[in-house]
Order: sequence, then structure tokens, then C-alpha cells
Amino acid sequence: AAARPPAGTARPGVFVITGPSGVGKGTLIRLLRERVPELALSVSATTRQARPGETQGEHYHFLSDEEFARHVAAGDFVEWAEYSGRRYGTLREELERHTSGGRPVVLEIELQGARQVRETLPDAVQIFIRPPTEDALRDRLIGRGTDDAEQIERRLEVAQDELAAAGEFQHVVVNDRLDEAVDALAAIVRGTLGP
Ligand code: 5GP
Repeated sequence: AAARPPAGTARPGVFVITGPSGVGKGTLIRLLRERVPELALSVSATTRQARPGETQGEHYHFLSDEEFARHVAAGDFVEWAEYSGRRYGTLREELERHTSGGRPVVLEIELQGARQVRETLPDAVQIFIRPPTEDALRDRLIGRGTDDAEQIERRLEVAQDELAAAGEFQHVVVNDRLDEAVDALAAIVRGTLGP
């Protein structure tokens, strides 16, 4: 676990949660935030289409390709990456909206983005979520029912490379039993933020 900042230096934490698509990052983060209510969620920007039930500004800032490219050119992103033919990124303004008020914040991003954050925000706590097995990942992507067969195969291909990267991370949490994985995440966050 990371060292606590000295007393009196209020330093909000930035927590990066990464891992292959379908590993359960979204569910884990939702449950983690129930345990650690002060933890804010960074809403990413993306050029992909909203899925049914997703709303603008809550699940994502849905942007056109042009809008996204404008933000890239302006240097507005802390990190961004292309994933499965779409672009995803964390806007500096979105992050600072939380951290400037002293709130810790969690980012849910894929591997390339997490690697960039390692460079741009070296103090961020990086956590990699791993499935118990590769089959568990396939089952979850199919069960989620949000992607067609071709999308699932693309995501599984990316996942193979992503899984190989677990060793790069400070913390690795296996999402086998949900409650145990949430316990592990909460312990990392609490350990960093202090009492
Ligand atoms: P989905 O399309 O399933 O919502 O997300 C696809 C992948 O993009 C997931 O692995 C998700 O964690 C990742 N992702 C979401 N937001 C961001 C972001 O802001 N930056 C990066 N690099 N990846 C993101």
C-alpha cells in the first residue's frame, strides 16, 4: 500500500482501475463507491454510441469524432486511447472538477490509458482487475448482452494482451467472488486515503 501523506497535507487520491472489458470493472466500482462514498467517479469521454439506458454526462460524455479530435488537439485529455475502433479519454477538467475540491476520484479505463496515467499522474494508485479465467471473461461478455458476436471476439482478442500486462501494476485484484474483490479494493483505497 502507498504511504500516507504527512498530516495536514490534504491530498486527494486518484485511483485508476483497469483490466479487460467484461472483467466487471463497472460493477466493482459501483460497489466500491457504496463502501467509500467520498470517492467520486470520473466520467469519461467517448465516441462510441450510447447503449440503451446510458445517459449523456452520467455514464459517458458522448462526443462526435470531431469534438473528440478537438479536445485531443487542445491537449485537454489526461489520457486517451482507441479501443475497439472507438476513442475513449479522461478530460483534465472532469478530473479537476473533483480533485480541486479535495475529493478522491476513481477512473475506469483500459490498459493503454492506464499506462499513460502512469506517466502523466505518477502519484495515481493503479489497480488491475483480473478475471479468474479467460473463459469467465467470455461468459461475462456474452451474458452482458451489450455486444454482438464480432464485438465480443474483438474484445477477447484485446483482453489476451491486456491480461499479460497485469504484472505492471501496483495492485492486482482477482474478480472471482464479487464481495471479496470489493473488500480488496476498499482496503486499497482506505489504506491510501487513511482514516
Ligand atoms: P465500454 O465501451 O465497454 O464502455 O468501454 C470499453 C473500454 O474502454 C473499457 O475497458 C473501459 O474501461 C474503457 N474506457 C472507458 N473510459 C475510458 C477512458 O476515459 N479512457 C480509456 N483509456 N479507456 C476508457
